[in-house]
Amino acid sequence: MLDPDRVTHRIQDLGVGAEGLQHFREWLDGLTGMFLVSGSTSSGKTTTLYALLHELVERKQHVLTIEDPVEYEIDGINQIQVDREHGLDFASGLKSMLRLDPDYMMVGELRDPEAVEVAARAATSGHTLLSTIHARDAVSTVTALRNYGMTANEIAVTVSVIVNQRLVRKLCVHCREKEAIRDDDRAWLEQRGIRPHRELWTASGCKECLHTGYSARTGIFEIWRLSSTDYDMLLSGADERNIRRLLAQHHHEPLVTDAWEKVESGITSLSEVRRATGALRADDWQT
Ligand SMILES: [Zn+2]
Repeated sequence: MLDPDRVTHRIQDLGVGAEGLQHFREWLDGLTGMFLVSGSTSSGKTTTLYALLHELVERKQHVLTIEDPVEYEIDGINQIQVDREHGLDFASGLKSMLRLDPDYMMVGELRDPEAVEVAARAATSGHTLLSTIHARDAVSTVTALRNYGMTANEIAVTVSVIVNQRLVRKLCVHCREKEAIRDDDRAWLEQRGIRPHRELWTASGCKECLHTGYSARTGIFEIWRLSSTDYDMLLSGADERNIRRLLAQHHHEPLVTDAWEKVESGITSLSEVRRATGALRADDWQT
């Protein structure tokens, strides 16, 4: 089971910012198609999904989930647990859910071509679906879907919102300190197009944080609400590089932008961001 602290987040507590919240709310208010949360293992994807589920329950929506395992029970939602020994996997669970015609379906994770195929079929037939998928950033989530066999047309018709995220520890507000920036940190930031100030917030340690310098966690987010221009791009079969270029032209904010805002304001430290985003190449961040 997940730590209850992690799953009782409301969408306004996730750390997605005002614009991010607006995208979440627009989707909740009636956008159809898929809402996909991508990231690495332990990036807080499930926490984000559960925050959305809580919101849907409050809106009295009929929600069904298939999960492996059910990590946290929510009143008012029918949650099905994957049971492969008895032939119940994500794909077959999704098929069963479709027959019950819910308003929203949640699939714990899209991690095989069969599940992705059923999810695509559900979404193209007008169903609304939330799920998680393993990918290093928002654009590479599209590549992951392609690799699982989704066609450009299916992706363009069904995917509404892609969130990519990581979890970082929050600096303890009782003892965080400003220190001169280290040369390698400055170089790391500059490679990603950021010109830092002379000082950065860093972890120290006190009684309040049991001398760790950190207290609780938050997410850093990239949120891509796909536009008609983006769909045209996907339909043309554009590769990751070209999609990134187009997004940058339209002021899309990559993960590094949100991460840097949280470092600058002392919510987290640069070492946390570097740890959490280690798998991203500098090129991925270029805008
Ligand atoms: Zn402290």
